Amino acid sequence: MSEGSDVLNTVGEENAAAAPLPEAPAAVTYLDGLSNRRRPVGLRFGAACEIVEDDRVAASWPYADIRRADGPVGALRLMCVSAPLLARLEIRDAALAADLEQRCPSLNADLPGSKGVLAIVGWSLAALTSIVLMVLYVVPLAADRLTPLISQSMEQRIGEVADKQVRVIFNGKVCSNPDGVAAFERLMTTLRGAAGLGDLAEAAVIANSTANAIALPGGKIYVFKGLLDKADNVDELAGVLAHELGHVKNRDGLRNLIYNGGTSFLIGLLLGDVTGSSALIFATRELFQASHSRDAERSADKSTVEIMHRLGRSPQPMGEFLLRITGKEKAKALALISSHPLSEERLARMSEEHRWPTAPPLLSAEEWAALKNICSNGKAGR
Ligand SMILES: [Zn+2]
Repeated sequence: MSEGSDVLNTVGEENAAAAPLPEAPAAVTYLDGLSNRRRPVGLRFGAACEIVEDDRVAASWPYADIRRADGPVGALRLMCVSAPLLARLEIRDAALAADLEQRCPSLNADLPGSKGVLAIVGWSLAALTSIVLMVLYVVPLAADRLTPLISQSMEQRIGEVADKQVRVIFNGKVCSNPDGVAAFERLMTTLRGAAGLGDLAEAAVIANSTANAIALPGGKIYVFKGLLDKADNVDELAGVLAHELGHVKNRDGLRNLIYNGGTSFLIGLLLGDVTGSSALIFATRELFQASHSRDAERSADKSTVEIMHRLGRSPQPMGEFLLRITGKEKAKALALISSHPLSEERLARMSEEHRWPTAPPLLSAEEWAALKNICSNGKAGR
């Protein structure tokens, strides 16, 4: 707060500037609560206590609203409940102080030195207690309910931090072969359009051999080179991307982050410091191991079916693709796969939704070849 010795020092300097000789502090000084400057003023006792500065009434404090505030020895420091919170009047003239004190009926009501502080401490404790209780008993169930309460812009900020973290984890190895990037962008634009996601959901390929894909909070999608390498045609990859777009649409990345970030993430969220919290960094790492709930997976699969149908393509290749990667064992399951535990069940559903393509492939043969090559050609960019 702005009260304190620094303010008094300022007074001393002002006085020294105004008068050639060092002087005792002015008999009455006034801090308007808006600026940090303490000004010498006069007082006029009329219907209210008028604070007069340069023959102008700077403020008028009703007597009933005036309260005693903590002050230095030898001075009466006052505040006013109908004035700005930090406004203070300080009177060093004992007679004048006594005169004013007599006029103020509620001078000693709610002293900030005792009851006020206690009230603040009490409220803080209550708030803290409720946070702790929430964390202990509600968090495990809260992710679902909290997720819709987090604004898009907050999610974006969280996503940016998560994204930075991902790039640190993977050394910033984002594949940048220009022809590959162009093909990938074209595919993503088509898919985003069919998903109705506008320019949300940027995507990139990471030079990492894991067969994985992930949608971060805020909508950023990463496909790992290991997954791209194993894809035999555009529909297989497009189906996975459409699935991730489903996660974006359903904000599953954010939900997972809340769930995995657990207590400290939630406290950070409640205290408004999410993006700086180490919990977020931790939770981002966890994202790669985390699995979505079975419901979230089904819902994301539904999005694959819808998007592929809308584009005149079949969702079945994606089901085949993932089953081919996982095989039938679940033991050494990787993140995408462990988050997609039911590859056979999925393939069965995708096969039910199979329709013969009514539109040409989503990329030309050249574009697909370029996309497969996106990580080649020298340096990975950032
Ligand atoms: Zn998924």
